[in-house]
Amino acid sequence: MFRGILIEKDESGYRAAVKDIDEACLPDGNVTVRVSHSTLNYKDGLAITGKGPVVRKFPMVPGIDLAGVVEESTHPEYQPGDSVLLNGWGVGEGHWGGLAQKARLNGDWLIPLPAQFSPRQAMAIGTAGYTSMLCVLALERHGVKPADGEILVTGAAGGVGSVAIAVLAKLGYSVVAVTGRPQDEEYLKYLGATEVLDRAQFSAPGKPLGRERWAGAVDVVGSHVLANVCATTKYRGVVAACGLAAGMDFPATVAPFILRGVTLAGVDSVMCPRAERLLAWQRLASDLDVEKLEKISREVGLSEAIPLAASLLNGEVRGRIIVDVN
Ligand code: NDP
Repeated sequence: MFRGILIEKDESGYRAAVKDIDEACLPDGNVTVRVSHSTLNYKDGLAITGKGPVVRKFPMVPGIDLAGVVEESTHPEYQPGDSVLLNGWGVGEGHWGGLAQKARLNGDWLIPLPAQFSPRQAMAIGTAGYTSMLCVLALERHGVKPADGEILVTGAAGGVGSVAIAVLAKLGYSVVAVTGRPQDEEYLKYLGATEVLDRAQFSAPGKPLGRERWAGAVDVVGSHVLANVCATTKYRGVVAACGLAAGMDFPATVAPFILRGVTLAGVDSVMCPRAERLLAWQRLASDLDVEKLEKISREVGLSEAIPLAASLLNGEVRGRIIVDVN
């Protein structure tokens, strides 16, 4: 038996609880991992609370991230004792995930734990942090350089936002943070933001074009915020869009794209090809100060993760949550 969060849905409703789970119930896979740490991402919040249609099979162990040690493997690249890491691939949605002491998976979804990080540090980064790096890679791929001007980060005090600020600042960019939590200004400046703006300036419907200010942006919010960010991005600037914290809609016009040559770069972490994942983790190892991770993250146990899921969706969690599953 092993302990884990189990989500069930039946006539009596949708519920998540910490349970003792029989190992015989683990799904098929060629690698069994003894999980040490997992995390709580926005998507895990949706899965645990049932507020979004994330879980595709029941019962489900949530957890889109995990770090641990291989216990059994018939995959050619992994041996018992190897330290591994997993982000996405539908784990915690359609295949049992990381918020449990054991996971059985397709070894192709794993990557070796980068030597620079402990399992706990890798989970302090988690999908949110790895997605931040995918956004930075998207800005770079489209030619954005520190000398081009300011980079705007929305949802700044959340998981993706916090890591994005730390990485961009270390790379030499001038970073402006947008937050609904002005009380977190000191935290955002510690991470590397040079200026902190109130989310209210971005969340109402705006004009098709505004004063050009941003050389680039990382947006986790979507909706009017994303539309206003695009409308105020400089000529040939780049907006990396990865989230929907304010909504799936995108009430914008084509004006920024056809008149200013702005690029809207979509970022997905779930099905991202392995080579880019490896690059993103390699870049996190070189471009993220691990001491900042301590300030960004805090650790909880499995049972605390359940009530925190609702707080996370309410935008009340600062930075990242590490879950020690043992
Ligand atoms: P968090 O909850 O940690 O952060 C989201 C932040 O967005 C909040 O902290 C808050 O920041 C801001 N926010 C929340 N609600 C609103 C709102 N109604 N209007 C404006 N801003 C709001 O989540 P994550 O950082 O883990 O994820 C952020 C988003 O990115 C989510 O939508 C998630 O689904 C998405 N995501 C997408 C991935 C992909 O592969 N494309 C991978 C990872 C995440 P503040 O208080 O500072 O304003």
